[in-house]
Amino acid sequence: MSLSDLAAKPVQTLAPYVPGKPLDELEREYGITNSIKLASNENPFGMGAQARAAIERTIAAVGLYPDGSGFELKAALSRKHGVAQECITLGNGSNDVLVMLAEAFLTPELEAVYSQYCFAVYPIVVQAAGALAREAKARPAHDAQPFGHDLDALHAQITPKTRLVFIANPNNPTGTWVEAQQLEQFVANVPQHALVVIDEAYIEYVTEPGSADASTWLSRYNNLVVTRTFSKAYGLAGLRIGYALSHPQVADMLNRVRQPFNVNSLALAAATAALEDIEHLRRSVAANTAGLSQVRTGVAALGLTCLPSRGNFVLVDTGRSGAAVYEGMLRQGVIVRPVAGYGLPQHLRITIGTEQENARMLSALERALQLR
Ligand SMILES: *Cc1c(COP(=O)(O)O)cnc(C)c1O
Repeated sequence: MSLSDLAAKPVQTLAPYVPGKPLDELEREYGITNSIKLASNENPFGMGAQARAAIERTIAAVGLYPDGSGFELKAALSRKHGVAQECITLGNGSNDVLVMLAEAFLTPELEAVYSQYCFAVYPIVVQAAGALAREAKARPAHDAQPFGHDLDALHAQITPKTRLVFIANPNNPTGTWVEAQQLEQFVANVPQHALVVIDEAYIEYVTEPGSADASTWLSRYNNLVVTRTFSKAYGLAGLRIGYALSHPQVADMLNRVRQPFNVNSLALAAATAALEDIEHLRRSVAANTAGLSQVRTGVAALGLTCLPSRGNFVLVDTGRSGAAVYEGMLRQGVIVRPVAGYGLPQHLRITIGTEQENARMLSALERALQLR
């Protein structure tokens, strides 16, 4: 008998999350310097000046436990979203909120629904809870939203045992999205015994007018949960902070499984300040919009195609083994993200960087394609 046999059955067969390769690791392994990472959808500008100042002001107090209620940040989020503080649950990244949702609402007798090619964390939290996952087929490869969420297919997977339905909008790793009217109709049609979790990790990057913002629907649907993060457009991925907006009764249940001090004091201070730093957000989003078109044009010039994306990344069809292209780019000091683990062995997910990083990525991609 091995020690792994002692673990809970669902954990024994759990496939761990595979993160983007860290820069230090690449440089250690390949003996190179000046590499760039476009693998985890981080903001290439990092944190804004106001977040940095808040961290510097707070750092002397890290000997103390953080405010476990996150009062200041919740007050700021309450103003931003026009919801009561009782509707807000803070997480150590929005990943933490996803874990809390599974812990609070799933058991081995119950079920969750998500789509093929969904964010990799959904299957992990569902399986760790021992619940049954029902995976809806995604839209086909040749579609206006290739590999995107098929709302009818998702609805068809809901049973009386369903407690959670996960939808990322825009979705990672595809970059695809669902329109406001269709998504709201979907939410309206989910039965009351299931919570619909709309994960809006990338919503700040969505600039198209009239696009979905599920946070504005909360007063209409008691079973709606919206998750947001400071890891992407706000540039605070390393601090780990995100949150959920929900009915107060849902937030109450999440709070019962939440670790008392799940969000650290630097993250609380930085996130509160980041909400005020409109200029950093504006600059980040504008650079992303320009970068998306730079990358899309560059990829097309190499004879490859990108899926449509409203996030800060594109999914590129390399038309060959994505792993080989990934390796070829690594050797040139450019880290992108292979997505074979998502069932997309020919694709690479590439984060939009600064203009210079995008240019370097494109030339590394071009060379990697020639290597074969
Ligand atoms: C990056 C990402 C998150 C954010 O995770 P954090 O834990 O907040 O860093 C959540 N959902 C999706 C779909 C993501 O891509």
